[in-house]
Amino acid sequence: MTPLPTAADVAALDAADPLRHFRERFTLPEGVIYLDGNSLGALPRQTPDRVAGVLHGEWGDGLIRSWNSAGWISAPQRVGAKIARLVGAAPHEVIVADSTSVNLHKLIVAALSAQRGRHVVLSEPGNFPTDLYMAETAIGSLGAGHRLALAPRDVLVAHITRDTALVMLTHVHYKTADMYDMAAITAAAHAQGALVLWDLSHSVGAVPLQLSACQADLAVGCGYKFLNGGPGAPAFLYVAARHQAALQSPLGGWMGHARPFEFVDGYEPAPGIARFLCGTPPILAVAALESGVDLHLEADMGQIAAKSRALATLFIELVEAHCHAYDVTLVGPPPGAPRGSHVSFRHPAGYAIMQALIDRGVIGDFRAPDIMRFGLTPLYLRFADVARAVEILADVLRTEAWRAPAYQVRRAVT
Ligand SMILES: *Cc1c(COP(=O)(O)O)cnc(C)c1O
Repeated sequence: MTPLPTAADVAALDAADPLRHFRERFTLPEGVIYLDGNSLGALPRQTPDRVAGVLHGEWGDGLIRSWNSAGWISAPQRVGAKIARLVGAAPHEVIVADSTSVNLHKLIVAALSAQRGRHVVLSEPGNFPTDLYMAETAIGSLGAGHRLALAPRDVLVAHITRDTALVMLTHVHYKTADMYDMAAITAAAHAQGALVLWDLSHSVGAVPLQLSACQADLAVGCGYKFLNGGPGAPAFLYVAARHQAALQSPLGGWMGHARPFEFVDGYEPAPGIARFLCGTPPILAVAALESGVDLHLEADMGQIAAKSRALATLFIELVEAHCHAYDVTLVGPPPGAPRGSHVSFRHPAGYAIMQALIDRGVIGDFRAPDIMRFGLTPLYLRFADVARAVEILADVLRTEAWRAPAYQVRRAVT
């Protein structure tokens, strides 16, 4: 067994961290260790000024002229092209639009309509709920005899057949942080003529992504998690250039029309990725998202990924050393294995323990029925924060502080 890292080891990790200066680029409250950046990313310091500039200069002074003069009309493409750099895609393959859920609907229906004669959408049990719900309801709205099939990840590939229209998976699992081998699954699907739709919500900004190199067909992702775009930030979608002409959005809004400002009666989809727009882009929210994406683009993705792994390894080792007596079980990959940037532990009283932690300034979240989830965001977390969080967790477990009645009350958002 390797010896446990000491306080001096942890300080040395922080001193050697090439990303340490990014912490001061975020507004973080005093006395808080924020381990939930995988659910709502922290506020970049530059974002309030960016949004204020759009409010006062572009909206207040520019008024409607800003659709042209401030580039509002092309903001979905501009920010999409920036996100493309984070996901390994070409600039014209990514666009910012709607929410992740709505983008799932658009791409599921588009894919099923193009895959004539095939009937199955294949996913895994325990995928993020909205993904399964959107597949179920997209299938219902098509009314064309499709069905949703679920296969566990260890046997998933064996369930891809000539009847599979679409494989729909979340690249990094929201509870366990298990990560799929994108290239291998995509190749297996293509061998059967199926398309693959990747949900990158827990991947983008946290792990390196190579959509083009993996021959990925379709993807969606979230703007408010590791991209720090703000609560309810617009999402993005990716359609490989080779598929763009053949796929059509089921939500043919005017912003996805080939010539929106000719105001013709008939729908004609725009030639490229813009056909997946629907209505008018939310410019204030896109500005906040762009600010978060810009900050990410200043950092090296390889360094982000390396620090993410190192934070996870330290966190897991310390929890296992200090909390093993208290019925805390690691969920998901062991230290060193491929994973996303959050770490989850199971405990029968996980909800109450998380409430006690939040009360003590360690903010993570809870995923029913028993998972305590800790997001490890490389841009603004220090190794010392992780070590301190484990001390507080061990203290809550040792003293059973979590048994207080106030910590048993379930709030609407967990
Ligand atoms: C966070 C998340 C979403 C969010 O969808 P919204 O439409 O923004 O609510 C979707 N899928 C996955 C896998 C997520 O983690």
